[in-house]
Amino acid sequence: MNNLYDNHNHSQFSFDGKKASVESSSRAAAAAGLGGICFTDHCDFFVPPMKAEFEHLVPEQFDIACQQAEIDRVRGLLPELEIFKGIEIGLQKKCREQIRNLLDTNSFDQIIASVHYLDDTDPFWGGYYRDKDWRTAYGRYLETILEEIRWMGDFDIVGHFDYVARYAPYPECSINYKDFPDIFDEILKFLAENGKALEINTKTYQDYSGRTPVLDRDILLRFKELGGEAISLGSDSHYPERVGDKFAYYAAFIRDCGFSYTAHFSRRKLCLEKI
Ligand SMILES: [Zn+2]
Repeated sequence: MNNLYDNHNHSQFSFDGKKASVESSSRAAAAAGLGGICFTDHCDFFVPPMKAEFEHLVPEQFDIACQQAEIDRVRGLLPELEIFKGIEIGLQKKCREQIRNLLDTNSFDQIIASVHYLDDTDPFWGGYYRDKDWRTAYGRYLETILEEIRWMGDFDIVGHFDYVARYAPYPECSINYKDFPDIFDEILKFLAENGKALEINTKTYQDYSGRTPVLDRDILLRFKELGGEAISLGSDSHYPERVGDKFAYYAAFIRDCGFSYTAHFSRRKLCLEKI
């Protein structure tokens, strides 16, 4: 597994990372034999008011200098492991100026661009799905990703394209290429043409109240067809036990789809590791 890198992890610096720490998750990565780990703490500049119905609103940004200093400290403890400084930026149209400003004034090894909130709702708490059928809900999510990554341009990985399927109430629990070929083509083409990575987020492929989303291989096959080569593995861990979760399975899956490498980023430069 030392050719595999977990590029999506949350530490104590994320609002929902209380059970994780840079040190404990790095130690878990080293124990699992991974080549490296990247900490991508949450940064969402706007949290939808509907979320207040369910939980206390806390700032979903983190102290970048503190996180990076802690990573430097842990790098000293575990010299055999590569530990990267990342961020998971929550894309939202109304926050574009703040996002641009943050990226202009900080440096990272790797930037994940994700959609967590859209249309002022939060899929995690269900509000997003009200009055939508599955096709509308999934399609709108993919369209939002496309619109915002086209605007943003400056990122490395598009995070969990199937996040919206995790918490959905529909029997259709997976997002398949055949249902959204046009939007997928646009997203995948954008990634392929700009040397960005598509993330396989292994947190999606687990049981959510009796529903288990499945990764559709047609998405990877189409990415390959369009010239894409960078696939990133991310556990989206919020505690150390999930670091590198299901990576052996998904590395084989990626290989079966015709890819010879997985991607990670160091100082914003794409690195490809043979699998
Ligand atoms: Zn996320």
